[in-house]
Amino acid sequence: MHSIFVSDLHLSPERPGIVESFFRFLADAAPGADSLYVLGDLFDYWAGDDGADEPFNASVATGLARLARGGVAVLLMHGNRDLLLGEAYARRCGARLIPDPTLVALHGTMTLVMHGDTLCTGDVDYQRFRATVHDPATQRAFLARPLGERRERILKWRSESERSKQAKSAAIMDVTPAAVEAALRVHAYPRLIHGHTHRPARHVHEVDGHRCERWVLPDWYERGGYLRCDAAGCTPVAL
Ligand code: MN
Repeated sequence: MHSIFVSDLHLSPERPGIVESFFRFLADAAPGADSLYVLGDLFDYWAGDDGADEPFNASVATGLARLARGGVAVLLMHGNRDLLLGEAYARRCGARLIPDPTLVALHGTMTLVMHGDTLCTGDVDYQRFRATVHDPATQRAFLARPLGERRERILKWRSESERSKQAKSAAIMDVTPAAVEAALRVHAYPRLIHGHTHRPARHVHEVDGHRCERWVLPDWYERGGYLRCDAAGCTPVAL
C-alpha cells in the first residue's frame, strides 16, 4: 500500500523529453500505487477544457485514464499554470479534482496536500494576481473568449511573469515560514506535501510543540521525480 505524489511537470509538446519521462513514469512507477496525486502544474498551461481534443492533451488524458482503469486512484489538484483545468478533462483522465488544500488520512498519517503557491505570501504581486484569476466571474468571462485568444493571453502573462521573476529575490518566491506554520496549525499539525517552489527538500517544522514534516516535490524541468509514501513514511525518488 503506497501513494505517489508529483507536481510541476509542466507538460507541453515543446518539451518532448519530459513528456517521454511522464509516459514512462505512468507505465513503470505509477501502476503499483494505490493513488497518484498530481499536486498542480501538470501542464505548462491550460487554456480551457475545450482544448482537450488537441492531440497532446488527449494523449495525456489517455495515459492517466489507463492508469486509473488499472486501479490507481488519480487525484488532480490545480496549480497556478493549469487552474482552468475542469471537471470535463478530469473525467476524461479518470481522475478526481481535489481542492487546494486537501487533508487526507494517508496510510495512517494525517497529510495536508497543497500546490504551494498560497504559502508564498511574501510575493504580494503574485498573490494579488492569484486572487483575480481565481475569481469565478473573471474565470467565466475569460472562458467565454475564443480558445486561441485565451492561449495567446496566457502565453503573454507567462512571459510577463518570467520577466518579473528575474527582479524578485529567491526569498520572496519561496514559502514564508509563517504561512507554513499557519497552515499546519489550522489543520492540527499534519504532515505537509506541496510543490510549486521547485526546491525539493524535507523540512521539519516545530509548531506549538508539534514536530511536522514538510516535503517539497521536485519540478520536472530537467529530469523529474516523485515522492512515495507508505505507512513507514515518505521517500523521494528521482527519475
Ligand atoms: Mn506552480
